[in-house]
Amino acid sequence: MSEMEVDTAGPGKLVLGEQIVDRINELAAISETKEHLARIFLTPEHRLAADMILTWMRDAGMSAHLDAIGNVCGRYEGDRPGLPCLMLGSHYDTVRDAGKWDGPLGVITAISCVADLNRRGKRLPFAIEVVGFADEEGVRFASTLLGSRAVAGTFDESVLVGGDRDGISMRDALKTFGLDPDHIGAAARARRELLGYIELHIEQGPVLEAKNLPVGVVTAIAGATRMAARLTGMAGHAGTVPMALRRDALVGAAECISTIEEFCRTDENGLVGTVGYIQAMPGATNVIPGQVSFTIDIRAPTDMHRKRAVADIVRRIEAIAKGRKLALQLDVTHENRTVPCAPWLKVQIADAIAAEGFAPLELPSGAGHDGMAMIDIADVGMLFVRCRGGISHHPDEHVELADADAGARVLLRVIENFRAGENV
Ligand SMILES: [Zn+2]
Repeated sequence: MSEMEVDTAGPGKLVLGEQIVDRINELAAISETKEHLARIFLTPEHRLAADMILTWMRDAGMSAHLDAIGNVCGRYEGDRPGLPCLMLGSHYDTVRDAGKWDGPLGVITAISCVADLNRRGKRLPFAIEVVGFADEEGVRFASTLLGSRAVAGTFDESVLVGGDRDGISMRDALKTFGLDPDHIGAAARARRELLGYIELHIEQGPVLEAKNLPVGVVTAIAGATRMAARLTGMAGHAGTVPMALRRDALVGAAECISTIEEFCRTDENGLVGTVGYIQAMPGATNVIPGQVSFTIDIRAPTDMHRKRAVADIVRRIEAIAKGRKLALQLDVTHENRTVPCAPWLKVQIADAIAAEGFAPLELPSGAGHDGMAMIDIADVGMLFVRCRGGISHHPDEHVELADADAGARVLLRVIENFRAGENV
């Protein structure tokens, strides 16, 4: 048994987990349609969900408010008022036809942990703040991490003029919601106010399940490079052009795709590469494809590793194009850096996992998270919770009650044993 007393959780009882699962279901009932879960930024559902979360925060003994971008923010004072905080959070917007755990699990678990401290009358030598970010997924407008960027003070005001699919600008949507687009700067927090940022999130991948572990320590949020490739050969009649005289762009693309897979599969340091889109022109059964466009998505746990891999892959694709006499156009369409989790936070999360009796497995996050924005004002730590089959962004997304409880117990332990590092 551990040295830490959690007197609300008797043997065999999953008190934290049960409350969390109940609230996950309550929040999931707030959706654009009954059939599919969709909770999109600055919609009536966003408002209802915010009100529900604010109530939970206040019930947990926190002061709570909606900030200038629509984030829900709760604060539980330390042993004296006005202390810097350990910030916990995740997002409460969803993709369309979403699962109910991606995002809300981190917000709800953090509130349950604070509620547990509050029930025991426990105050710590630092404040705890819980933030539910209003938009992480970027479904409505062509920009992601809107909530956490506002908190980090890196919100790009140029996105305010961009419209959603109905032509409503973000500026107008904020006004309709009751927020002032000219005051988003008020949501920004200063580095000196934060001791660190810790996010609990479902893994969205199959690693923890394969290792038979309920939780894991995240090492880094992987950076990504996305490229658009276009190979141009010569279209021709499928019956008359001999094989030796063809410049078939689709066969060239197929070779590129196999090469990318082979290259990434033989890497032992977490490199992943995906070709997720391809289009062949003219696209007819009896015509040799003259032009093919496809995308490439490359991710790795470190920027140096990713950049080296991208350079290698580009060289190989260039060689394939040359060998097949295809013209190649290759453009980088998106690039984001790797966000390493702070070693001192990884140690504290790993210690809490071990104290709960689980092996503290380290794993990278292939998906993006709010920590990518929060790194600008705080050191970042992340704790992953196992999800069934690694399925996410899908209605089949599922977390077992016992795993939700394990995640909460670990997070509570991290909070209670938290020692501030150097958040510089
Ligand atoms: Zn998420």
